[in-house]
Amino acid sequence: MIPTLRLREGRERSVERRHPWIFSGAVDTLTGDPVPGDTVLVATHDGRPLGWAAYSPVSQIRARMWTFDPDEAVDDAFVAGRIATSVARRRTTLDSGTDAARLVFSEADGVPGLIADRYGDTIVCQLTTVGADRWRNVIADALAALPGIGRVVERSDADVREREGLEPRVGPMRGEQPHEELVIHEDTNRFVVDAATGHKTGFYLDQRDARRRLVTLAGGRGVLNVFAYSGAFSIVSARAGAATITSIDSSGPALALARRNAEVNDLDIGELVEADAFSELRRLRDRARQYDLIVLDPPKLAANERQLPKASRAYKDLNLLALKLLAPGGILVTFSCSGAMSMDLFQKVVAGAALDARRDARIIGRLHQPADHPVLLSFPEAEYLKGLIVEV
Ligand code: SAH
Repeated sequence: MIPTLRLREGRERSVERRHPWIFSGAVDTLTGDPVPGDTVLVATHDGRPLGWAAYSPVSQIRARMWTFDPDEAVDDAFVAGRIATSVARRRTTLDSGTDAARLVFSEADGVPGLIADRYGDTIVCQLTTVGADRWRNVIADALAALPGIGRVVERSDADVREREGLEPRVGPMRGEQPHEELVIHEDTNRFVVDAATGHKTGFYLDQRDARRRLVTLAGGRGVLNVFAYSGAFSIVSARAGAATITSIDSSGPALALARRNAEVNDLDIGELVEADAFSELRRLRDRARQYDLIVLDPPKLAANERQLPKASRAYKDLNLLALKLLAPGGILVTFSCSGAMSMDLFQKVVAGAALDARRDARIIGRLHQPADHPVLLSFPEAEYLKGLIVEV
């Protein structure tokens, strides 16, 4: 018997609009005896089939749609095919002067629960749902078979796995494991990737467009890179001929990577400050320091909508301090990677900060996650990274 998940009356609408998530509250009955990760038929209250989904009994998101076509088979070929088409879509990114890109971005690529990032000849993959975990061998084989790929490693240690009832899994999946440090190329820069223990899968691929924009802004300027991680924005600034650079991060290992990136690129990235950004910015303000270009790229401060009010205050605080530290004619490049915060709200927060800082400021550019982190029109939740370039 085919395991079938019937929705409550009226709850088919979201699926009909091709939204991939089915929340527990939308489920009427479940027949058959699916185990976690099994493919179940999704049907309306009165039994009309809507498509196939991965069943996740522990998560609030009870099922994630694989396909909206009830006649399509979800099998090895299906999963491998989804990966192949999503990799093909990265052509423009990988032809743009880099050998690193996000090859698969979960729901946005029709493979809920799978992140696959390519760093040169290595793919780092992250399986975040039981539905994706179920196909781990098919996924690993498909990725390992891609041209130019020597190994696939797993970094399934994101805390979201817990919500799916999954243990963390880290380590080799396919191919020989690297004995040298992993270095990617992006335009004229090289970046060291810490795939084993670094943030995300090892590098902030999602700031590629911002790095490219920064090249046009940093020349001759005194740069302050706040929340620097491995110093990618500092490297780009140095390459563009920044006058001075200061990088702040609270993580020692992150700054060690930044130091290594400076060596690998044979660039001087100036001062590295291991400190809490909030207190360091206050300290710099009290010393009346001034910068021509400040990059503010904090970690996700709002994990969900409930945390928005508190997060908004933190974003405002940071942006207020940064705006005060800008020399006349200075530029602030400020980000929010909280999915719960819209561009609209973020702009309001920065506007409030400018008012309080008594700075007359105008937006001269906007930044977003790049093309290899796409957003399905039917799944706007995938949009998370937004940035404003503001001139005072
Ligand atoms: N701009 C980076 C990515 C930043 S990620 C890039 O483009 O690669 C956010 C960084 O903020 C992490 O490196 C983390 O270590 C750091 N961080 C988190 N909380 C912090 C705090 N309170 N003060 C300073 N740094 C912090």
